[in-house]
Amino acid sequence: MFSLKMLPLLLLLHVQLSKAFLVHSEFLEEKTTKIVQNYLEKFYQLPRYKYQSERKNSTSVIVEKLKEMQQFFGLNITGKPNEETLEIMRKPRCGVPDTGNFMITPGNPKWKQTNLTYRIINYTPDLSEAEVETALEKAFKLWSRVSPLNFTKTSQEEADIKIAFLQGDHGDNSPFDGPNGILAHAFQPGPGIGGDVHFDAEETWTKTSRNYNLFLVAAHEFGHSLGLAHSSDPGALMYPNYAFSEPSTYSLPQDDINGIQAIYGPSSNPVQPTGPTTPTACDPRLTFDAITTLRGEILFFKDKYFWRKHPHLRRVELNFISLFWPSLVNGIQAAYEDFDKDLIFVFKGNQYWALSGYDIQQGYPKNIANYGFPSSVQAIDAAVSYRGKTYFFVNNQFWRYDDQSQSMEPGYPKSIASSFQGIESRVDAVFQKNSFFLFFSGPRYYAFDLSARRITRVERSNRWLNCRSR
Ligand SMILES: [Zn+2]
Ligand SMILES: [Zn+2]
Repeated sequence: MFSLKMLPLLLLLHVQLSKAFLVHSEFLEEKTTKIVQNYLEKFYQLPRYKYQSERKNSTSVIVEKLKEMQQFFGLNITGKPNEETLEIMRKPRCGVPDTGNFMITPGNPKWKQTNLTYRIINYTPDLSEAEVETALEKAFKLWSRVSPLNFTKTSQEEADIKIAFLQGDHGDNSPFDGPNGILAHAFQPGPGIGGDVHFDAEETWTKTSRNYNLFLVAAHEFGHSLGLAHSSDPGALMYPNYAFSEPSTYSLPQDDINGIQAIYGPSSNPVQPTGPTTPTACDPRLTFDAITTLRGEILFFKDKYFWRKHPHLRRVELNFISLFWPSLVNGIQAAYEDFDKDLIFVFKGNQYWALSGYDIQQGYPKNIANYGFPSSVQAIDAAVSYRGKTYFFVNNQFWRYDDQSQSMEPGYPKSIASSFQGIESRVDAVFQKNSFFLFFSGPRYYAFDLSARRITRVERSNRWLNCRSR
């Protein structure tokens, strides 16, 4: 029984709890302020202040710098350290600032000669010397293939680009910070330290998808050695944050080709090399490969990327598939969420994978024959799960799979147009929201009301990526 005598004790408990909570949140706030200040000082030229009182006066400067940073990364420009901003700040990245002196160096720093030399001062114990040399040589090739530049390894004292693995404070006013955080930095073209590249020796350097791939980081840093600044194109090599891409098939993105050619002119190759372009949300011709919900978010797959749409924030973020699932293939063709198992299933060709958050489940990929498809079906256009049934769209037909009995339902395939009136062309992607199937076909989507059994809306696909323009 609840007696009056208990009340004071309960009240006391309540007071103590809220006090504890207050201390906790103040601590968090202080920690956040430190992260923000530190990041802006390092990468956005926020002046360093010695004393707390000076810091208090600099709030408006911090807000301005924060806005600059949010603009660079394509975030909502609030001037506040919200969660999306902090998330970016916690990512491993290059130590070269995103703005300031580096970008606006008068006269665009560049090498006068096109034949450049490099020297490896020391090696990392994480890889063999031959592996380091191969990674660096391959990284230089990315740039020489698309420009008039040539790179030759030398052991002579005076090389243009000197490469070293260093740790902590190493005498150039830009100390490294131990594992993660800053991975490497490089100096713009010039004599002495100009063009040099330093890797943080406290990182683990690899030739695989494990962090951090030396070839990818070296290729980025060499861009700085040649005079390039950071790009805000998230698919560009010169984007400041680290992202894994398969090295064996890596080709220099178009944004970086444009950058290096703007400085040194086109390649001497008669056929001008081109590279992959990053899909842009507001491209009116944009189509999707596959779409699925995932724990309340919506994932839109396209080539080696996916957009991640948060449920409440008006925010869409472009990511590499490899950033979340390093060993997953690119070019996913269909995907659906299994709510009961808390898994998403993704399809390419006749293979499929089960993903639990960031993890690929054991035993995958499997063959789609497991679902009961005949061998004539070798790929799936789109898939969606709804009320214990999974729908698979293949050309102008669809199949329905019963999740309970784990078998294809009899009477299928059926024609899409007969059951989903108005869906006349091939389906690229589909997902379910409330009691709607959202069908995507070419640059349009069709909202199909499952209870009224009709299309209630047709609009441009990229409205889902917050694109209001046509
Ligand atoms: Zn960089
Ligand atoms: Zn350094």
